[in-house]
Formats: sequence, structure tokens, C-alpha cells
Amino acid sequence: MPNSSSRRSFLAAAGIAGPAFLKPAEPLPFRAEPKLDYRVLGKTGLKVTTMGFGCMITSDGAVIERAADIGVNYFDTARGYQNGNCERMVGAALKTRRKNLIVSTKSGAPSRDGLLKDLDTSLKELGMDYVDIWYLHGKSKPDQITEELMQAQNEAKKAGKIRFAGVSLHSGHQGVIPHVAKLNHFDVVLTTYNFATEPYMEGLVKTLKDANIGVVAMKVMASGQRSKDEKTRGILKREGASLAALKWVLRNKNVSTTIPSITDNDQLEKNLKAMAAPFSFGDDKALQARLQEIRPYYCNMCGSCDGTCAKGLPVADVLRFVMYAENYGEFALGRENFRLLPAEHAAVRCGDCPECTVKCPRGVRVSQRVSLAQEYFA
Ligand code: SF4
Ligand code: SF4
Repeated sequence: MPNSSSRRSFLAAAGIAGPAFLKPAEPLPFRAEPKLDYRVLGKTGLKVTTMGFGCMITSDGAVIERAADIGVNYFDTARGYQNGNCERMVGAALKTRRKNLIVSTKSGAPSRDGLLKDLDTSLKELGMDYVDIWYLHGKSKPDQITEELMQAQNEAKKAGKIRFAGVSLHSGHQGVIPHVAKLNHFDVVLTTYNFATEPYMEGLVKTLKDANIGVVAMKVMASGQRSKDEKTRGILKREGASLAALKWVLRNKNVSTTIPSITDNDQLEKNLKAMAAPFSFGDDKALQARLQEIRPYYCNMCGSCDGTCAKGLPVADVLRFVMYAENYGEFALGRENFRLLPAEHAAVRCGDCPECTVKCPRGVRVSQRVSLAQEYFA
């Protein structure tokens, strides 16, 4: 079983010399033997466990190591997560098991040179010679996926630094997914997909599957499990609430795998159950109730409100930055993204508008949430 050695390796990797009393307790054995399920990841031919591991907010490398020991074989990180420290932790946790695992990372750099520089940094931080999937990070519009960026992925493939090219899509799915499916370039797409996404996502996911592109689902809980809102935290802690969300995603066979964020062994154990049990009537009922609960604050990034903010704000993006801070506990990531906004957008204050012009058909309280971003990050 994993553990103290992995914890020490993470601390060492992070340059933290921990005193002896930091040695963690051995994790308790799981109550039942986890059952693993696999699907093929599109044209890559890779057989992935249907529950992968999203490392974005994980701070304990021992949990990652434990998941790998159990047989979870897909781990996802990105250059920007945890201020650049996430890759180092993932690398330290996985390095002795590397060859049996599928590791992905991402870069949102907007140029060839920036991308390739990020890739070299990622490989150095991970302590790996290659990554299996390298995503262009966070594209929302077809024109953001340029020839130059795809060329950089081809160069990285030729150099043996990546095996497969991917793209991650946060919003604008109706425009960007049909475009990606036609490009004949991408092997894998990482996309937002959960019980709160728009019904048209079913058809879009099928479009990717029909193009033999592997589909990895993210944001599968529809909002993180570290919500600051006590009521939300309570709901997610209820037995079965997060599991139902994961099972909902996996009921769609066009999805190959999922990357729920996992922070501790308890969450790992709960999520593993999604591979063994089908989506049920009870799960559906639980999710319907949850949908009502999250309605005022969960933006599913449908893009319907694009262009309707009187001050020109990219509303779905700003709401995503708030979600990083509020629901994932990743304040730095939210702030870092907010600071990439053009100066004229960063300077906007919702309080100066006599009325909010953005009308969300799903009931998200837009000006309240955007104001939070301004309060937190500006
Ligand atoms: S605020 Fe509403 S309309 Fe705008 S992207 Fe989010 S869910 Fe869609
Ligand atoms: S209140 Fe905020 S989100 Fe609404 S129109 Fe004004 S700046 Fe845009």
C-alpha cells in the first residue's frame, strides 16, 4: 500500500524537508474490493479505466499513488495547476509506475514557441520523457485552434515528447466540437460534460465518438466538492450524491473516461464505485434535486449569453474563474485566469451598471457571481 514513502517523495519534490512527526497514518483498507471497468479511448487504442483521476486540486500525492496501485490508469494535470506545482507532485507520485499509466497535461500558451517551452517545463516537472496526451488548454472558439498550435503538437509527436494530441474545451461547445471533429488532427477531446450540461451535449459527444476521437469528461460533478457554501458541501457529502453524478456521465458509452477531482481516500473510494454500478432511478432523483440546488450559481458554460454583457465581459469565462476559487478551493488558479483578461475587462465593476443586461436562461445570478470575481481577483 502506498503511503509514507509517497508522501515523503512529494515533500522532497516540493523542496519541503518535513519533520519526522509528519509521517502520515497508513490509509484504511477499502470496505469492498474496487471493481475496475475499461473503455477504449478513441483512435489512441488506449484502454482507460472509466474513472480517471483529476489531479487539479489534489494536495496529497499518496492518494494519487494509491489510485494507481488499485489500477486506475489515467491521470490528468496541467502546466498551470497549483501555480505550476501540480505536475511536480503528480510526477513524484507516479514515477515508479510510469510505463503502465496514461498521463496527460495541458498548456494554454497561444503560440508555437510558448507551447513547446511549456511542454519542456511540464516534462521536467513531471520527471518524464513523454506524456501520453498533451492538450491545447481551454479553447472555446474554432479560431483559437490555429494551424500554428496544431503544428506544435505535430512537432512534439515527432520528437517523441507526446503520444497523442488533445484539446480541452470549456465552453462554446456547439461551435467548437463540430469544428474539432472535422479537423482530422485531434486524438482526444477533454470536455465539460455532466448532468447539468445542455441536452445538445449528447449529440456533440456522439459527433466526437463517430470521428473516432476519444472523449474524456471533466467537471463531472457540475461544481467542485470544496464549495464554500455549507449547504452544497452537505449535499455532496450525502452518501451517493457525487457518485450519482459520476454514474450519470458513465451511462453514456460515447464517453471513454472521466477525471473527477479527488483529494482524499474517502473520495477515491466513493468514486471507484461508479465503475461497478449502473445509473439508477434513485440516482436520477438525487440529481434532479441537486440541479435545483445549484441553479443560481452553476454556469454550465452553454455560451447562450455570449455578447450580452453591456461591458463586453466574457461572462462564462469569468464565472468559471469564480468556480475555481469557490467550488474547487483553487483561488490562485481563478486569480491567474482573471489576470489574463484584457485590462478594460479587468477594470469593469458590475456595481456601475444600472441593470445587468445578461439574462441567463438557466437562472444563474450572473451579476452577483461576476461581482464576486471582481471582489476576489481584481
Ligand atoms: S451564465 Fe447562463 S447563459 Fe451564460 S454561459 Fe452560463 S449557463 Fe449559459
Ligand atoms: S452587471 Fe456585470 S455582467 Fe451584468 S452587464 Fe454589467 S458588467 Fe456585465
